[in-house]
Amino acid sequence: MSDKVNILGVKVDKVGIDEATEKIIKMLDENRVHSVFTPNSEIILQAYKDQEFCNILNSADLLTADGIGVVYASRILNDPISQRCAGYDIACKLVDKISETGHRLYLFGGKPGVAEQAKKNFEKKYPFIQVVGTRDGYFKPEETQDIINDINFVDADIVFVCLGAPKQEKWIYDNKDKLNARVLMGIGGSLDVFAGIVERAPDIFCKMGLEWLYRLIKEPWRFKRMLALPKFGLTVLFKGRKFKGDA
Ligand code: UDP
Repeated sequence: MSDKVNILGVKVDKVGIDEATEKIIKMLDENRVHSVFTPNSEIILQAYKDQEFCNILNSADLLTADGIGVVYASRILNDPISQRCAGYDIACKLVDKISETGHRLYLFGGKPGVAEQAKKNFEKKYPFIQVVGTRDGYFKPEETQDIINDINFVDADIVFVCLGAPKQEKWIYDNKDKLNARVLMGIGGSLDVFAGIVERAPDIFCKMGLEWLYRLIKEPWRFKRMLALPKFGLTVLFKGRKFKGDA
């Protein structure tokens, strides 16, 4: 059986949080740039409707299941992913590890001040961590080269790119060959959580697969975006098998 499952064209790695973290640590020792994306149901549904975006996702070195919807989809397809593997959870483990190895982290994304606050919080928790640069995620296209120069100048090993999907995946895809870092991770709103601006759902919601419900209560304006979840489930149910053999 393949170590990936094809969900509506997107080939998701069947890894849990620990395995994903180990893979990324290994990537840090390889002499090339890697990309890591963590699609949820909404992102996979977007990719289903947009072949170019689907190809961008599939170009990743690691593609993990961010969201219980993706785990359920793999079960519907009889090729289960054991565990939800959210970008935020991988990032937590990774930060813990690199605070000991000395790898250099760059935080890119969020509103002005957010990455800076996340850096301060990391430094409070991990006195030896190397957060070598920060940059907010609101920039003009002509500023992209400046951002790339900054990331290269500070010699970052790993970059958290937190611009929301699909912006972050496209940014990484378009610019990875110009960056000297080893790992570029697209992890959405994670910096907001690391900065303490957005609260993560309590463990009990996550364990029961109800994080979406918690987010809906806290951020009811996301209601429209969340309609993607039932749409995604139905699409997997009725169209999913067509892709199953190709993983
Ligand atoms: N964001 C950004 N630049 C943009 C648009 C969004 O830096 O042009 C940031 C935004 O401030 C937020 C994150 O991207 O921190 C997206 O968060 P969201 O929760 O929408 O992403 P998800 O995790 O659901 O993909």
